Amino acid sequence: MRSLLMKSPVAIAMFWIAIYLMITLLPLLILLLYPPTGDRTIWLEFSVALGFVGLAMMALQFALTARINIIEASYGVDLILQFHRYTSIVAFFFILIHPLILFILDPETLQLLNFLEAPWRARFAVVATLALIGLIVTSIWRQPLKIPYEPWRILHGILAACAVGFGLAHALGVGYYLNLFWKALLWGGLSLLALWLLVYIRLVKPWFMTKKLYLVEAVNAERGNVWSLVLRPRGHEGITFQPGQFAWITLGISPFRMREHPFSMASNGDNPECLEFGIKAVGDFTKTIKDVKPGTKAYLDGPYGVFTTDRYEDSAGFVLIAGGIGITPIMSMLVTAAEREDERPYLLIYANKKREDITYHEEIEALKVKLDLTIVHVLREPPEDWSGESGYVDKELLERYIPQRRGSRNYFICAVPKMMDQVEAALHELGVPVTHVHMEHYNLV
Ligand SMILES: Cc1cc2nc3c(=O)[nH]c(=O)nc-3n(C[C@H](O)[C@H](O)[C@H](O)COP(=O)(O)OP(=O)(O)OC[C@H]3O[C@@H](n4cnc5c(N)ncnc54)[C@H](O)[C@@H]3O)c2cc1C
Repeated sequence: MRSLLMKSPVAIAMFWIAIYLMITLLPLLILLLYPPTGDRTIWLEFSVALGFVGLAMMALQFALTARINIIEASYGVDLILQFHRYTSIVAFFFILIHPLILFILDPETLQLLNFLEAPWRARFAVVATLALIGLIVTSIWRQPLKIPYEPWRILHGILAACAVGFGLAHALGVGYYLNLFWKALLWGGLSLLALWLLVYIRLVKPWFMTKKLYLVEAVNAERGNVWSLVLRPRGHEGITFQPGQFAWITLGISPFRMREHPFSMASNGDNPECLEFGIKAVGDFTKTIKDVKPGTKAYLDGPYGVFTTDRYEDSAGFVLIAGGIGITPIMSMLVTAAEREDERPYLLIYANKKREDITYHEEIEALKVKLDLTIVHVLREPPEDWSGESGYVDKELLERYIPQRRGSRNYFICAVPKMMDQVEAALHELGVPVTHVHMEHYNLV
């Protein structure tokens, strides 16, 4: 079993799905052991089951977002967060349907919504449900509601802790299925574990980060409104990483402040002594990078991610497709391959608006000396003397460059969401196997 898990990413992924289903359903099955005696309708039992499964799913969300390396290494942060979003919505509906069934079965129970007169167990349920509604609304509509990312993240943690904490308090208060001490202990333990994961990510991990300090060595201007941030480890060996991975960076402040941002490493993954990031100035934090002084303290949480050529050692070569700042993980793949003297063919298709926007233009050209590298620049607004490709990276363009034996390569795409969707669809139409297409999304929420 262990050797199978070690070998196959699919087996590892299936293993975690099985664990997820088990943890979601096991508490429910345990509730059915030594069931309380009572004459209750099937609808009532169904409603209660929805409540318990919803609560277990909510508790598991903490594990999904705790950046547990072994889980992230099986799926990648994109997929995990996607799963987190969908399962949260499913759990939300389970929890919402739970009281709705009760209200339909017995309209008198609507009185439990009267917060002032209702018993505590009902008040807990109301608070948990309101917290859950707040969670869903502020997550789905964060941008239209204009909630900045950092305050949203803090609010998200508080609302999630309230939803699970008060949800459990409600279940314990009702007590029907949790009447036996060991059952209450088990459910209490599950919820405490979930809250511990929140403490772990907000306090324990930052504490470990303070033990591994980095110092800013330089900040260099690149083309395309991008700034190269060069970090060196101070008092420790630094980290190696698989090219294409990313880390969460805290710059100039304590990691306990929870103001960290994810950035892909753009440098050689095998060199722990110097880490480079290419950061595009787009918002509050990234626009301050240009003013960061050498010697500024930095803390890293990582490496994370499965967007890496290292996972496909058997691939005959690679097709790398970048749009704008999406070049950073791909730059790392190319630099690392060059340093490793990789002899396999690399095709880079790199889309930008103008020639002046091409980040790392010269550095990439220079890699041709060490690598079997074909570069195709695609400009949306080419200058008059431009003889290269122009327009968008579409099916026709891809067909001209990607190899005839589509399945012999692995394809990596990092760009704005619209370009990624279009390129993914085009590759699909051109017969590239879906398992050979890998993508990194920069907008997590
Ligand atoms: C895996 C990954 C790798 C990335 N690699 C790079 C890279 O190599 N170079 C680069 O320039 N950008 C990269 N990004 C994007 C970068 O993290 C955001 O541009 C940056 O965090 C924006 O912060 P801001 O405050 O300047 O902008 P804002 O205007 O505040 O935010 C713009 C958007 O960025 C996202 N964002 C903001 N703050 C955070 C945060 N703390 N954590 C997560 N997302 C946030 C939100 O979706 C937000 O809507 C990467 C993102 C991810 C998820």
